[in-house]
Amino acid sequence: MKIQDNILLAPYTTFKIGGEARYFAIIKNIEDLKDGVNFALQNSLPFFILGGGSNILVSDDGFDGLVLKMEIKSIDFRYLEVKLPNEGGVEVVAGAGENWDDLVVSTVEKGLIGMENLSLIPGTVGASVVQNIGAFGVEVESLVSWVEVFDIETQKIKKLNNQECNFDYRTSLFKKSKNLIVLRVAFQFKKDAKLNFDYIGIEELLSKDKITVQDVRDVIIKIRKERYPNIKDIGTAGCFFQNPIITQDEFKELQKIFPDTPHYDISEKVKIPIAWFIDKFGWKGYRKGNVGVHKDHALILINYANASCEEVQNLTNEISKEILEKTKLKIEPEVVFLK
Ligand SMILES: Cc1cc2nc3c(=O)[nH]c(=O)nc-3n(C[C@H](O)[C@H](O)[C@H](O)COP(=O)(O)OP(=O)(O)OC[C@H]3O[C@@H](n4cnc5c(N)ncnc54)[C@H](O)[C@@H]3O)c2cc1C
Repeated sequence: MKIQDNILLAPYTTFKIGGEARYFAIIKNIEDLKDGVNFALQNSLPFFILGGGSNILVSDDGFDGLVLKMEIKSIDFRYLEVKLPNEGGVEVVAGAGENWDDLVVSTVEKGLIGMENLSLIPGTVGASVVQNIGAFGVEVESLVSWVEVFDIETQKIKKLNNQECNFDYRTSLFKKSKNLIVLRVAFQFKKDAKLNFDYIGIEELLSKDKITVQDVRDVIIKIRKERYPNIKDIGTAGCFFQNPIITQDEFKELQKIFPDTPHYDISEKVKIPIAWFIDKFGWKGYRKGNVGVHKDHALILINYANASCEEVQNLTNEISKEILEKTKLKIEPEVVFLK
């Protein structure tokens, strides 16, 4: 494993923004990872695990530490033992540096039901559990059976079961505990799994009598290509903000000012699709200099060309300020800042 100096990070991110990493290394296996971590510890450097760079915003000043780009790859299929009639199925174990959509393709090709709604999400398998990715009514936590991590504190490899991962909306134990680096993830495909096309817009697109997992993937890809900008052509990190989750009392207060606020009830709380307010306050399609809000999707910020991190932050601060002043909703970024 080679440690490189002063590597520009912008090309390693889908936002195409950010300065240099003081040190940078490609991680192909656990030995590379241990060497990288030891280099950082011995030199008292901060370090950052980089996947596909599709959910990060890097500072214009770069990162004065070591970036470890995760490229540990493998996809293994295991057929699970059937002890009871409702048991069995397939377990797929994938390396953290595997491309997420390549994994989805390999499961869909085998006719396994579970990942198809998460088709075409950019990034890596490791980050999928860090961020608990979700789309079209499915979150990755529903498929995870265990996650293997390298614990920097103990320098040991350990396996965590689904419960221990503390999955929640776009977060997990791994997002909060920076000492845990994801190495492999095991996904379980149940024998009796059913296709999920409850999400509005999918069902009417499926006109066939017998719908296959490939048909669902095809529809999801079609919808995503219409809704999301192509990361090959334009800089973006997907949805910039998280949807706020508030109490029922806070929601009642909000409804007094905005009676038609869309919402989803989740246990005792209420999730607000914040794109609705960003759109309502006129930000959709707004552009200032090199940055702007996507014309069709109010949560997506765009780097039109050579935008700086500062420009993005100025825009997000303006949006969050207006939302807070008018609705009292405090919105947090989904995107991770690296500075
Ligand atoms: C066009 C577009 C569409 C998107 N659509 C969706 C969507 O529908 N649903 C959704 O949920 N997300 C979506 N995203 C966001 C993004 O794709 C996901 O969050 C993805 O999981 C990020 O993966 P990554 O490998 O690029 O992570 P990175 O951006 O490289 O890193 C994200 C975070 O994970 C950490 N990390 C990465 N790998 C590891 C590891 N092995 N161990 C420990 N920590 C690690 C990083 O340190 C960082 O904190 C979209 C993004 C884009 C650009």
